[in-house]
Amino acid sequence: MNATHLAIQVEKQSIYNLSEEELTSWVIKQGIQPFRTKQIWKWLYQKKVNSFDEMSDLSVGTRALLNEHFSLASLQEDKVQYSKDGTIKCLFTLNDGNLIETVLMKHNYGPSICVTTQVGCNIGCTFCASGLLKKVRNLSSGEIVEQILCMEYKLNEGRGTAKPKKISHVVVMGIGEPFDNYDNVLRFIRIINHKAGLAIGARHITISTSGLATKIKTFAEEGLQVNLAVSLHAAKNGLRTQIMKLNKAIPIELLMEAVDYYLEKTNRKVTFEYILLKDVNDQPSCALDLAELILSGNRRHLIYVNLIPYNPVSELDQYQRSDPESIAAFARMLRAKGVNAVIRREHGTDIDAACGQLRSKQLRQ
Ligand code: SAH
Ligand code: SF4
Repeated sequence: MNATHLAIQVEKQSIYNLSEEELTSWVIKQGIQPFRTKQIWKWLYQKKVNSFDEMSDLSVGTRALLNEHFSLASLQEDKVQYSKDGTIKCLFTLNDGNLIETVLMKHNYGPSICVTTQVGCNIGCTFCASGLLKKVRNLSSGEIVEQILCMEYKLNEGRGTAKPKKISHVVVMGIGEPFDNYDNVLRFIRIINHKAGLAIGARHITISTSGLATKIKTFAEEGLQVNLAVSLHAAKNGLRTQIMKLNKAIPIELLMEAVDYYLEKTNRKVTFEYILLKDVNDQPSCALDLAELILSGNRRHLIYVNLIPYNPVSELDQYQRSDPESIAAFARMLRAKGVNAVIRREHGTDIDAACGQLRSKQLRQ
């Protein structure tokens, strides 16, 4: 391949970046009949083809135009890890050589995927492997959609002619801060939720944010039924700032104002994620602070707490996982105060389970 070929290839954008309306305008601009969009989307999201040439009900000319303008494969598999519990973790190389990771988990309610939204993260949480490497760039919506398609392919590998399994749940909790890549993440959600797209129900999609207050308010206005999770990790400013640098700029008062706005506007539940770090934020006094914070507002009965056992990250030795008794006691104290709290079931603990760990390991190598 010569340099000109390469330049042309790099310029092609993923066809999965385009909403149905955007593809229709492109189609019209090329002089193709608008109804072709429906056919193209069917090939992309229902038949899930790997090349434009497989789109057999399109003319050769239309397929050539698609080939010339768009790419279908922005992700190349670099490494795969299989856990005993069925979890699959994949490291992908993007077209520009950057690395991302995606995790597929098997739940009793169906296969669920955890997608990455940025190459690295700038929020700077002191416990997180993803944050060890600064943000290089945002992912396009197409690159996020393709994570689902690639993992669905892995899910069906070796199943022969059996009815293909579908990924039913999506959590936006991989590398990156989704609300720092707001527009692309929203576009991604609209595409996977669209009934002619991947048709994944909004209630089966969860976005997790570290707490970008203004974006939480904007999100409240979107009219989406998508679930919102907020990474809290501490109920007092001093401790939260120690754990998450972001809290300096957006302290708990501002965050709670945005959460209250979201609750008021949507009447939907919000999940607070709380990583339990031994002797840092797992003491009984921290549970009481958390209960007090949650119970002091009008609609805060809509707040649920997800307690997350910490996955140690080898580069970050200041934190240890809380012992199971402390985790159980923390949950009991919250419940005794009337707060809904669950302890998150873990997946893939025998592989590099912490978000961003596989990528940071590979980059060090
Ligand atoms: N940036 C967003 C979404 C990605 S992180 C956010 O922070 O919410 C998704 C979740 O994984 C967050 O709740 C985060 O706190 C958690 N997480 C990150 N590193 C972890 C680790 N080593 N062990 C357990 N959970 C971790
Ligand atoms: Fe970024 Fe989330 Fe990791 Fe914090 S926990 S550094 S916000 S990915």
